[in-house]
Amino acid sequence: MNTFTTRASSINRALDQIGDKWCLLIIQEIFWGINTFSEMLATTGASRGVLSDRLQWLQKVDCLSRAPAREGGKRMIYRLTPKSIDLYDSALMALEWERRFFPTPELESVELTHHVCGHVFTPQMRCSACNEAINLHDVSYQPGPGATQDERDKKVRRRSSLSVQAVPSRRSVYRNLINIVGDRWTANVLALSFHGFKRFEQFHEELPVATNILADRLKFLVEHGIFEQVLYNQRPPRYEYELTGKGEATYPWFLSILQWGDKWCDPSGAGKPMRLIHKTCGHTLQGRVKCSECDGVLSAQEVRFHIGDPQVA
Ligand SMILES: [Zn+2]
Ligand SMILES: [Zn+2]
Repeated sequence: MNTFTTRASSINRALDQIGDKWCLLIIQEIFWGINTFSEMLATTGASRGVLSDRLQWLQKVDCLSRAPAREGGKRMIYRLTPKSIDLYDSALMALEWERRFFPTPELESVELTHHVCGHVFTPQMRCSACNEAINLHDVSYQPGPGATQDERDKKVRRRSSLSVQAVPSRRSVYRNLINIVGDRWTANVLALSFHGFKRFEQFHEELPVATNILADRLKFLVEHGIFEQVLYNQRPPRYEYELTGKGEATYPWFLSILQWGDKWCDPSGAGKPMRLIHKTCGHTLQGRVKCSECDGVLSAQEVRFHIGDPQVA
């Protein structure tokens, strides 16, 4: 059997399209202005085969377009599409998480400047209705108009054992997040934990993958400090998987991916599979990524990204 069924989720739909490590790395590089095959080969460290596989895939899902750099020219370049430009919010949220939990001199030198107000800023995910910062515990869920079951391919892409630490690009500013979310099942498990799932059986009921795969991903999330194992039964010993602060802090990134999936990955046009409620204000939740200095909604065109090293500038 090559397909399985899960409850429709915009996070899963989105990540089935762009959520593997190489796709996330390629999109990140293109955001920083890298646009030819040979440049991407050098910056991602991917093999030719893997890179060309993922570039084709990203074109198939309408996240990249390929065209001559100049009309009639031979040199081909890749460009973001309106769909992938819309991933900018998630890139900002990824960067914020990385700066908080994996501070390196390089990441600390990253400056985001908002052209509109002229200030160096921190991106923040806020509720469009009440403008409060969004926290995992302040959100509840109801079925949306598109609440259905999704039939999903078991295998979406060729698997690749990538070590993100080996990625050569200095602009790869959220490689640790990619390491965690860039595996389909790991990301799916983490997304379920936001809905209160804690036990092996609960995860397995919702995500029908082989038990050894599920056990492996849970172990990975514990090892990386995203989950904490808590004993809930003495004899026999049984553990629950609780989100740590570091795990909870991935929520704004997942929310940005969910909103992207609502907008771009709704093949039947039925509408959102889930309706999110911001309990703080009682409104339907729409997160907006905003500037910490002027409270303006951020867009890619209005932000300057700079790594504070003269060799790279
Ligand atoms: Zn609100
Ligand atoms: Zn601003």
